[in-house]
Amino acid sequence: MTMSYDVVIAGSGPLGIAAARRLAERGADVLVLEQGDAISDPPGSHYRNSDRFVAQPDSYLPAATKYLEFIDDSRPRDALPGAAVTRAAGGQGVIWTNLCPRGDALWPVMSDEEWSARYRLAEEYLLVQSDGLDRSIRQKRIGAELEKYFETTDRKVEALPVAGHFLESGILHYTAPFDILSAAGEARNKVSIRRDRVNRVVSEGHKVKHLETTSGRVEAAGYVIAGGAIATPQLLFRSGIRPDALGRYLSYHPLAVCQIVVAPEFCSAEGVADVDPRIQIRPGGETPWYTLVLHDVSPFDPSGDDTEIPPNRLVEIQSICPVDNEEHKRAIFHEEGRVTFDVPLSDADLGRMSGAEAEARELADLLGRIRQGCALAWMPFGFAHMTGTTRMSASNDGTGVADYQGRVWDYDNLFLATNGLIPTRMSVNPTLTGVSLAIHVAEHIQP
Ligand SMILES: Cc1cc2nc3c(=O)[nH]c(=O)nc-3n(C[C@H](O)[C@H](O)[C@H](O)COP(=O)(O)OP(=O)(O)OC[C@H]3O[C@@H](n4cnc5c(N)ncnc54)[C@H](O)[C@@H]3O)c2cc1C
Repeated sequence: MTMSYDVVIAGSGPLGIAAARRLAERGADVLVLEQGDAISDPPGSHYRNSDRFVAQPDSYLPAATKYLEFIDDSRPRDALPGAAVTRAAGGQGVIWTNLCPRGDALWPVMSDEEWSARYRLAEEYLLVQSDGLDRSIRQKRIGAELEKYFETTDRKVEALPVAGHFLESGILHYTAPFDILSAAGEARNKVSIRRDRVNRVVSEGHKVKHLETTSGRVEAAGYVIAGGAIATPQLLFRSGIRPDALGRYLSYHPLAVCQIVVAPEFCSAEGVADVDPRIQIRPGGETPWYTLVLHDVSPFDPSGDDTEIPPNRLVEIQSICPVDNEEHKRAIFHEEGRVTFDVPLSDADLGRMSGAEAEARELADLLGRIRQGCALAWMPFGFAHMTGTTRMSASNDGTGVADYQGRVWDYDNLFLATNGLIPTRMSVNPTLTGVSLAIHVAEHIQP
């Protein structure tokens, strides 16, 4: 039986699936093509929800990162040795850590009211909430201490929302693309997902005619490429769609982390379990970075006397630093299919990192002491949160790949849904903004 679809989407990560859901809710029949296999059951559900990570939370990060395919480790730092893709049903949306702040560097792609409406819908799709944090002793006590610390600045101490919901058992169920689609009601039946790889976008003049996939040819009225911030521009390049801005103005987040043994006065009594805290201090005033104090995942192997510390005594401090969007910071696409990176950090970028590092050390002293083996470290450069590689622009002036509706410049029926559309220097985790944009793009495609 031949099925016909209104829209075909390449990529089943959170952004591709959010676009699929919105299009289906608007009446479109949608086919999602995903090149990766399932790594979770059901396909596209969060890998972290499995019983073994509930039992042993610290085993999650090493297990999840084996699904990262690192791209370019040719040169330290400038080549972003941590840049990675995940080929899997659900993309990196099945291994992410689900922190969902609203964006801090919005651009006039839509009115403030529309931004709010899109964020609200994205939060509904992702089940974003900060429930339960008022039950956390560390949240309350550390929060109060941080409020004093930041009192004379323009930065506010707030609860950090996460994409997930608490089950009756009290366990946090993390949202993944499977959940986004499952909650779509009848619209769920209008979305099909197929294991297939898009090799090429084939166009004639201003129109995409079909996608060439591993299993053949797929035709639709509209096409959305949602392959992530690296594979999306890579597919455009492979297809001969090579606007000047492709891969340029790349931004990402150098991320510094340390783990703290929290002083007893901020913690529940010995042997009394505590809800894990999640606190955010957003950029503000003269401070462009984003600071998190939370107990979530740790990349460290604790050592010495600190190997065994009860979970109610721990938090991580994460400092997320934004990198300026500059034309020369870029992903380079090679004819034979390889991608390499050239993202030299400027003095301004490095200055921000020094400032964030100094602040993290002060906060560590304020809250307790650094756990042995968990000293402040910058995670591999370019670890995640890449943006700008297919940036939006207000006009077709060479500084953007897509217009403010996410349509690739000079194409009538080719759209993008990726964090790569974000053209500004965003300091906070990007996925909620990316999902809001995917919804925005889906609103502009005629089913
Ligand atoms: C460990 C980790 C933790 C993270 N934590 C957070 C966090 O707390 N908060 C936050 O905001 N962000 C976080 N992120 C980032 C977040 O996961 C991404 O922003 C998000 O997954 C991007 O979604 P996407 O749909 O654009 O792309 P992806 O999730 O990368 O999905 C793209 C999909 O497209 C498929 N694809 C690509 N090319 C093709 C093709 N040619 N044909 C068919 N299929 C194709 C890929 O196989 C992949 O499955 C984290 C990332 C990692 C790795």
